[in-house]
Amino acid sequence: MSREKLPYEDDTVSTPKESGKKPAAKKTPTPKKTAAKASAAKTASAGKKTRSTAGKGRGRPSSSDLLGLLVLGLTASLAACAGGGLFGGGTTDTGKTDTATTPTGQVTIRFLDVGQGDAVLIRSPEGKTMLYDGGRSADRMREHMDTYGITKVDLMVASHGDADHVAGLVAAAEAKPTLFINNGIAPTTQTWKRLVDGLEAAGTKFQKANNQVINLGSVKVRVIDPPAGMGKDQNENSIGIRLDFGNFHALMTGDSEKPETQAWLEEDRPEIKGPFQLYKSVHHGAANGDHAAWLASVRPENVVIGVGPNNYGHPTKTALDLYKQNGIRIYRTDQNGTVTFAGNSDGTYTLTADR
Ligand SMILES: [Zn+2]
Repeated sequence: MSREKLPYEDDTVSTPKESGKKPAAKKTPTPKKTAAKASAAKTASAGKKTRSTAGKGRGRPSSSDLLGLLVLGLTASLAACAGGGLFGGGTTDTGKTDTATTPTGQVTIRFLDVGQGDAVLIRSPEGKTMLYDGGRSADRMREHMDTYGITKVDLMVASHGDADHVAGLVAAAEAKPTLFINNGIAPTTQTWKRLVDGLEAAGTKFQKANNQVINLGSVKVRVIDPPAGMGKDQNENSIGIRLDFGNFHALMTGDSEKPETQAWLEEDRPEIKGPFQLYKSVHHGAANGDHAAWLASVRPENVVIGVGPNNYGHPTKTALDLYKQNGIRIYRTDQNGTVTFAGNSDGTYTLTADR
């Protein structure tokens, strides 16, 4: 299957200030762990070279799951995106204006308190909405949607098919997602069936993770597809996303265990290269998640752990010690509630937490 490059895909992507002036490195106080409104931190990370691999990957259809539907959906949704510019709000719908303009406003990234599980709600300055996972409870997700006034989801990404990531998406499907991206490995659970039914009823387009780059307004969403050879294990086929809003960067990689992150490192993916102001703990702080070589590439400033009461021992001392050793500030949804970062395109951000 071959296809043409789409408006939201880039051949090359460079950071807005690559050839411009670098922001002055301003020393700011370290945000307090549970401060209601922490001080903005600033990083001088301009000048990095980032290469997009958009459009180079291909889906690898398999017949045993949703994929037939996904591949059909791919064609349809690509056409829809090309024509409608759904994710092309603001000034970046061609993906070619990065070097000409610096996005304004703020990207808001909320790590929702959903108990044990992950749910991340992202809003572009233009009001485009994305969900990366939805936690384990549809009721809990409905409450958050009410709280944050989510009536429309533009982009929904399931990192993988486990219930603590997708059950809440069943409720979010009521907000008629325009596009849904998954790893192409359909679980055989009732929850998954309810999700697919809900998305089909909503007229959502389906895509398999394929290193796409999607413009959520002026926020670039780079989908990091699983490396080859991961088999059918859900965790090890987690889809990652990298968010770039000017010089503000965030990375989330679902429940990717060490074999997957190790393979990404070996593939030398540009998307996983830090520094990142914001990072989601791998696999709720499990011992088989984050590791030293991975964090040396990602170089996060802040890590958020999506965790609640559980029998797995999450987050583990192993993970917490690793974060501390690397000087990474730690936030946990079980202790801090919903944790929200509001990022500016110059790389500064503010942090708020429920508690
Ligand atoms: Zn999980």
